[in-house]
Amino acid sequence: MYFIDAILPIPLKQTFTYSVNKDEAAFLKQGMRVAVPFGKSKVYTGIVYQVHDQPPVGYETKSIDHILDEEPIITSIQMKHWEWLAGYYMCSLGEVIKAALPGAFLLESETIIKLSSRNFQQEESLSDDEFVLYEALQHQSSLHINDARAILDRKNIVSIIQKLLDKNIIEVEETVYEQYVPKMKRYIKLAPKYTSEEKLRELLDALTRAHKQREVLMHLFMLNTKTKKPISSTALQKKSEASAATLKALIDKGILEEYYVQQDRVEFSGEASSEIKTLNEAQIKAYGEIKSSFETNDTVLLHGVTSSGKTEIYVRLIEEVIATGKQVLYMLPEIALTTQLITRLQKYFGERISVYHSKFSVNERVEVWKNVLSEKPKSQIIIGARSSLFLPFKNLGLIIVDEEHEPSFKQYSPAPRYNARDSAIVLANLHKAKLLMGSATPSLESYHNAKTGKFGLVTLKKRFGNVLMPDIELVDIKEKTRKKQMTGHFSDRLLEEMRDVLKNGEQVILFQNRRGFSPVVECTTCGISPQCPNCDVSLTFHQYKNQLRCHYCGYHMAMMKSCIACGSETLDTKGFGTEQIETELKTLFPNSKVARMDQDTTKGKHAYSKLIEALENEEIDILVGTQMLAKGLDFRNISLVGVMNADNLLNFPDFRAHERSFQLLQQVSGRAGRTQKRGKVLIQTYNPYHQILKQVSVNDYEAMYKEQLDERYNYKYPPFYRTIKIVFKDKGLERVQKASAWFGQALEMQFKENILGPEPPPVGRIKNKYIMNILVKIPKNQSLEKTKKYIENVWRSFNSIKEFSSVRVNIDVDNY
Ligand code: ADP
Ligand code: ZN
Ligand code: ZN
Repeated sequence: MYFIDAILPIPLKQTFTYSVNKDEAAFLKQGMRVAVPFGKSKVYTGIVYQVHDQPPVGYETKSIDHILDEEPIITSIQMKHWEWLAGYYMCSLGEVIKAALPGAFLLESETIIKLSSRNFQQEESLSDDEFVLYEALQHQSSLHINDARAILDRKNIVSIIQKLLDKNIIEVEETVYEQYVPKMKRYIKLAPKYTSEEKLRELLDALTRAHKQREVLMHLFMLNTKTKKPISSTALQKKSEASAATLKALIDKGILEEYYVQQDRVEFSGEASSEIKTLNEAQIKAYGEIKSSFETNDTVLLHGVTSSGKTEIYVRLIEEVIATGKQVLYMLPEIALTTQLITRLQKYFGERISVYHSKFSVNERVEVWKNVLSEKPKSQIIIGARSSLFLPFKNLGLIIVDEEHEPSFKQYSPAPRYNARDSAIVLANLHKAKLLMGSATPSLESYHNAKTGKFGLVTLKKRFGNVLMPDIELVDIKEKTRKKQMTGHFSDRLLEEMRDVLKNGEQVILFQNRRGFSPVVECTTCGISPQCPNCDVSLTFHQYKNQLRCHYCGYHMAMMKSCIACGSETLDTKGFGTEQIETELKTLFPNSKVARMDQDTTKGKHAYSKLIEALENEEIDILVGTQMLAKGLDFRNISLVGVMNADNLLNFPDFRAHERSFQLLQQVSGRAGRTQKRGKVLIQTYNPYHQILKQVSVNDYEAMYKEQLDERYNYKYPPFYRTIKIVFKDKGLERVQKASAWFGQALEMQFKENILGPEPPPVGRIKNKYIMNILVKIPKNQSLEKTKKYIENVWRSFNSIKEFSSVRVNIDVDNY
């Protein structure tokens, strides 16, 4: 008796045991795929976890349907990494596998029809079409819906099938099929019997009257001697100007033979074209420090100001690692926003780079997967967003996490709710590889780790080529409003600078960001937003209850009628967005070309690159945009950056709002003046005395870090406390309240005041489901593992309560 334990791509924690025969047991290895029956009629693709001979207790095993792979498509390191992910982020291995594998690897059921087992005799009751299908099914045991369509030669056959189903004549069978279709390219060669010179001459003589066919043959020889490579049918047709019919005639005669070769879809044209740049003194120093830091640290943080030349240092390190034959993973927050960087790296490394992104077609992803698995040179360097972490690296030498502070490294939904940066550290360890994080504005956690010796730390303080950091000026728009020096949302200072810059034929970037879902209440007279007394966050306006609430501690108060600070009744919940700015610009600068970059204008596939290109070609004078503008763009001609309103960033209800504001403002400012002329940045704000803005204006990361760290300490937030968020969702408000209260009380018994909530999030209902959150704060000296165990036990008991069976529970570890 032989068995396998398989992991199925479903949220259930356990593996599933199936029986296999002796040969199968000998053949199967961990990481191979098998099609297995599940439940009454479902078929799933399972991943073999282990092969053994221990029959499970208490149930009869089913046998597997068939084996789908010749070789494992998942490595043992991947399996270990995924087990870590499932354990750390409290989800099932099946959920990790579903996120990790390209969809085409997880076979899909597809509709197949067959005759029902019941004997059917009243053939005369069938319509003509029904009868044709019925007859066809007597000759073939089953039919694909597409076959049925072809047989009847009509498109809409669903109704006919439905009728046959209703009459119990046929039944639907679910089956699985391989979805991945590699792209095949057709090649042409001479049939073997003609390859001797003598035979060939005879052949050409015989073809003297078939002029076109002869022509094709002559060109085939010419191409053959010239390239010594396989000749594709397209190349041959083009050269000989022959028609497909001529080619076919030669194949039919047995003179030529066609054959197919699998093509890789993810191709880059062109070789490496640029020399790797010689590093300058500061870069050499930083590079040396990274190298020596790697001798004692597995992870190093490179803190280098914008445009200090970090990328060139990465390039050097990559070059070194691939020379030893190892693989490199270069992780970026969002691939769509980094076309510039990809092009730059391709110039250095040519075809050794593959890009991997969850938005790619399944086929493209399958190909990169296979290339990485077989260590093909063309996938030696992978550039990818967070999902590239799941690729089957065999021999990883280096991981680079660029812009490590970016929030998009975190996946919020669905499970696994993982942070790709943190998970990359574990992956690097499994490969005994090194990890380099880079940022001009590191996350507080990473910088803290570096400062406390967990990571190495290397700093680059100056921009490359002695380009100065931009000159940052804060503009007090409260004052400007009072003095009537505002035109719409533009201060006279900003307008003045813009006119200057545009007159010189230089470009302007304007930044306006409205993050978050619910509007922040802001007094339009004094700019104050009400704050939570218990937390350092703004209260969020809840229209539903006409309340102001704190997202983190549950504090709430009735919405006030007038501003608590200045008493005026000018409370406003509507901010202004990029669109309004764009409209204002058209009247203010009718002769300038204005464009907008935000989620609305970059929906199309190439919309984003088109905007970048237009900016590079100076077809745009003023670009208005959201935080998309902050993402590592490198432009030559932008000498002015304007921030329309810094306050809505600072007032965002999140314990990281200040840190994020600093990062965003620094990054946006970093777009200005990347060439010799010093760039200018104007930040408009109601609150020019805000510490964060001061720190931004003098480029003082260190001061920001110290102050924010104090606040985190005082308010018990990361990096001093870990947090786990438990989210409850249900259609019934009362049920979700009751369920979360039950869960919360069970946790409070153990963790006391470190349990916050349950409380509804600012948007208390999404998609008709009411939501309640519990936040578990975990002090440094409390075991994370034991805490999770405890939560899991509570969760298990919770799941056995019938009343709560409809309530969905999501657990988000390190939810920030
Ligand atoms: P960062 O990644 O820190 O923002 P980059 O690596 O993009 O900085 O460098 C900023 C600019 O300086 C780029 O245009 C880059 O080509 C140029 N640069 C950086 N290092 C060198 C070098 N060693 N030689 C020539 N140009 C360099
Ligand atoms: Zn006010
Ligand atoms: Zn609070």
